[in-house]
Amino acid sequence: MSDAITTLLKRNRQFADDFDAADLPILPKLNAMMLTCIDARVDPAHVFALSLGEVVTIRNNGGRVTPAVIDEIAAVSFMVAKMTGAAPTFDLAIVHHTQCGVERFADPDFQRALKDNTGVDVSDVAISDHDQSLHDDVQRLRDAARMPGSIVVSGHLYDVATGAVRQIIAPHSLRP
Ligand SMILES: [Zn+2]
Repeated sequence: MSDAITTLLKRNRQFADDFDAADLPILPKLNAMMLTCIDARVDPAHVFALSLGEVVTIRNNGGRVTPAVIDEIAAVSFMVAKMTGAAPTFDLAIVHHTQCGVERFADPDFQRALKDNTGVDVSDVAISDHDQSLHDDVQRLRDAARMPGSIVVSGHLYDVATGAVRQIIAPHSLRP
């Protein structure tokens, strides 16, 4: 077994020894969902001091709104509506971060080389301006007919150099 997996399993044994969260409800305690980057430096459990069961998290390259992300949120929204009998009103916080890998995707040469070598087109997730990309992501959600207008969206930028999160887009109903 690799050193990494040995370390992780050892840590989990400690976690399981101390475990006392067997009765957590399926719906997150803070009634919130977060979309953020896969970057190991921006783990929301650390950045927002989350406890187990508080927030649903979706992560991808950049924390961008993609068709796959929209599918995930639509599925969760449907499930929440079935469970609660009401339109979902959870917060959806989009959290991008400084020094993000997807800033490299904005380089046309890199983008072309990536597509030539892997077939992956990252043009929709590339970031050259963080404020703009957050506004674009909110717009993508708003344009998706299967997104419930009742969810509350917001946009934030995490600075990996200071640990601080700055709110760029204040929380508001997706379609008032
Ligand atoms: Zn990133």
